[in-house]
Amino acid sequence: MRQMRALIIGAGIAGLAAAGALARDGWETTVLEQASGPRTAGYMIDFFEPGFTAAQSLGALSNLREYGQFYTRARYVDATGQTRAQLSMDSFLNAAGGKFFSILRPDIERGLREWVGHSTDIVQGAKVVSLDPGRYPDSGAPARVTLQDGREFGAELLIGADGIHSTVRSCLPVSAGGRQGTGPDRFLRHLGFHVFGYVFSDAALAARLGAEVLLTDSLTRQAGLYALPDGRVTFFGIVACNDPAPDTAMREDLFTRFRGLGPLVDQALERRPADMYEDFVAQSVVGLWHHGRSILLGDAAYAVSPLAGQGASLAVAGAELLTRTLRERDNDLSTAFADYEAAWRPVVEEQQAAGRRNTRFFVPPNRTSLLLRRGALHLMNLRGLNAFMARRAFGSVLPTQGPWAP
Ligand SMILES: Cc1cc2nc3c(=O)[nH]c(=O)nc-3n(C[C@H](O)[C@H](O)[C@H](O)COP(=O)(O)OP(=O)(O)OC[C@H]3O[C@@H](n4cnc5c(N)ncnc54)[C@H](O)[C@@H]3O)c2cc1C
Repeated sequence: MRQMRALIIGAGIAGLAAAGALARDGWETTVLEQASGPRTAGYMIDFFEPGFTAAQSLGALSNLREYGQFYTRARYVDATGQTRAQLSMDSFLNAAGGKFFSILRPDIERGLREWVGHSTDIVQGAKVVSLDPGRYPDSGAPARVTLQDGREFGAELLIGADGIHSTVRSCLPVSAGGRQGTGPDRFLRHLGFHVFGYVFSDAALAARLGAEVLLTDSLTRQAGLYALPDGRVTFFGIVACNDPAPDTAMREDLFTRFRGLGPLVDQALERRPADMYEDFVAQSVVGLWHHGRSILLGDAAYAVSPLAGQGASLAVAGAELLTRTLRERDNDLSTAFADYEAAWRPVVEEQQAAGRRNTRFFVPPNRTSLLLRRGALHLMNLRGLNAFMARRAFGSVLPTQGPWAP
């Protein structure tokens, strides 16, 4: 019997996880990625449930863990260097049932690429500009995509894993969940922040930070520094910004707002590389994730925002659940797509709600919120309350339960 072909748009976290899983299930898989090579931008991401269990059942956990980091505590420091609050990472590890590590966003991609290996053809420099979602079950109507350079690809299954600014989503006849407008932004719910992240080498700063995460105890913006054992440091910064499309001058102005939050942060700001991750903070709102032979996955369908701390985890878990559902429904696309969406949508919508709830915690808008955060962090350190507080922050994904559980 001829192998079924799957096209996956985007070699990000969701796309690589889906491609590797489908290849293991016997699909002939091709990933089309617009970037010319693996992405190096991004910052440290906390990786826990439901992605942890999903990566385990995919057989990819060891590839990710190889690049995983563990920190002893996070210290919230004010501009004078005084510690205002702290969180023992043991508390968080306990709340997560031990299923937790931190990992650089580029290292998640690296680990997944190693796990995918030669099972999948990854075409770099392949920017999708238009597509036909195909018709199902009509075997003569495959999904088709056209690249910017004019090349065309077709397949029985198309997965749009092309991130929060998804082109696939714009090409599918799907609604924006009741939202108005016609541009690609109609699928995005802006949360009023802008995010920056990068990695740089500074052995002295890395040694000074050691195994502790430094977070700023600041209003309307939040910066953080994590050191890596090889002398690199990763910076992230989230700043309040009501303009969903700031121009270059304004983005530069936003970046300068992290100055003065402390000498170590100032030092990190001076080391900004050309390859920096930068975006507005938003969530995807899509009425239905699938049409014909095509389905959206990861941020393209359900971006939760960095404020939910769950984007990478939900990308891996969504890929595992989608590919498992396809397998269990004998690759009947209509049934599998519908069952997957029915099971997964409530989970990600809960995470989106948690992301919106968390904005005041992550970036306190005023002094009252800052004081409340200090109090909440204190409670999170208390045995017995840590799991409750973590669940309050991250929804029901802690500990493992729900439709993703294999
Ligand atoms: C370079 C980069 C760095 C990031 N760093 C962070 C971070 O530090 N912290 C954080 O919280 N989140 C970060 N994110 C977002 C984070 O990866 C996602 O929120 C989450 O992991 C979900 O992953 P995803 O695979 O759905 O989307 P993404 O990881 O965004 O991957 C989407 C992929 O699709 C590709 N793509 C987009 N459009 C097209 C097209 N038309 N044709 C072909 N390919 C296309 C993109 O180049 C990208 O590789 C980053 C994303 C990128 C792309």
